[in-house]
Amino acid sequence: RLRDGRALAEDVWSIFNAANLPADCINLGQGYMNFPPPNWVREAAQESLSRVETNHYSHPKGRPRLRKAIQSFYSPQFGRELDIEKEILVTSGANEGQYSVFTAFLEKGDEVIMFEPFFDQYLPSVIFNGGVPVYVPLHPPKAEGKSTSNDWSLDFDELRRAITPKTKIIILNTPHNPVGKVFTRVELEGIASLAEEFNLLVMSDEVYDGLVFDGNEHVRIATLPGMWDRTVTVGSAGKAFAATGWRVGWLIGPESIIRPTLAATTRIVFCTNSPLQEAAAVGLELAPKYNFFQIQRDEYAERRKVLTDCFDSLGLNYTFPEGGYFALLDISNVKFPDDYPFPKSVQGRGRDFKASWFLALELGVSSIPVSEFYCEEHAGIGEAFLRFAFCKDVDTLHRAVERLQGIK
Ligand code: GLN
Repeated sequence: RLRDGRALAEDVWSIFNAANLPADCINLGQGYMNFPPPNWVREAAQESLSRVETNHYSHPKGRPRLRKAIQSFYSPQFGRELDIEKEILVTSGANEGQYSVFTAFLEKGDEVIMFEPFFDQYLPSVIFNGGVPVYVPLHPPKAEGKSTSNDWSLDFDELRRAITPKTKIIILNTPHNPVGKVFTRVELEGIASLAEEFNLLVMSDEVYDGLVFDGNEHVRIATLPGMWDRTVTVGSAGKAFAATGWRVGWLIGPESIIRPTLAATTRIVFCTNSPLQEAAAVGLELAPKYNFFQIQRDEYAERRKVLTDCFDSLGLNYTFPEGGYFALLDISNVKFPDDYPFPKSVQGRGRDFKASWFLALELGVSSIPVSEFYCEEHAGIGEAFLRFAFCKDVDTLHRAVERLQGIK
């Protein structure tokens, strides 16, 4: 299965997994937190484990309590009363939700547009479901020094040219992983009008919706005129409550999208783990009382500052992220020896893989090489960057940036 080569290759998360790196390496690679979920969410998890029914199968749609919590939390944001039976689907993490959308909708040869760089998981998920990925670039900023994530720009003529009679889905990701871009209302209107003109579905991955900084507005494309009926929005308890290993996520959309996707997810996992659905429900129920998301956003803005202050002091080009918890560092001018003993998994990969490996072993800070978020043809663009995650407590970030001062 030649066309699946990339999809079957070892993934970047496994190559740069903490288990493959020195024990004292600080992980700014794969995006997960080094702090626990809030106490009241953990207590809810423990409580649900001690009950009987919450240890057993849920309805494939998701537990009613979580669907109700999603309804209460999100209905105001979507400007409509979400129907818990028809318009909300709990999934085993955002990944599985998105996979199920592709399973439900893609027929062999259907084209799926993704903005490049793209979260790597989209590519194999599309290919395994018979789809053909089509890449539309987010153009990196041209200016030297510090740029912001919103300087990564989309060319609407390029997007239009990428659409063919076989195009079925556009994947949107805002706030964007790995760039941190928060798509503006104007950009989303441009995407929406093409989706309408060519009758496309939009899969809008909004798992970092709680992490939009500096007064930027998180606009949900599903709320633009005419877009509800053709958009499925993806959410994540892992991102919301510092619980990425829980694998609890959700999809919100019209019945015409949720119903077929429910059929797919029912056959893939049957249902999502029950006890942690209960805990995620409590998370959404109590978040307003604790002002949780506002406080969390402020904490992340502080974490971001520790990392980006370091990049400033290094005098390297980088992208200041408006959303999410990643920052891209331009490593075009960073030096490392070619003959370093790289492991097999890194040999033969891009310069960014080698730089990332070298920095992890020599300085003790891991990162993710950005060429993994590009198709093979455009990997060279991504090779200029490493992605650093700042979903870590401030002390850890301070230790990491001290080590990063050793970058040459
Ligand atoms: N979304 C996370 C990241 O980008 C984790 C990746 C994954 O799902 N394997 O780091």
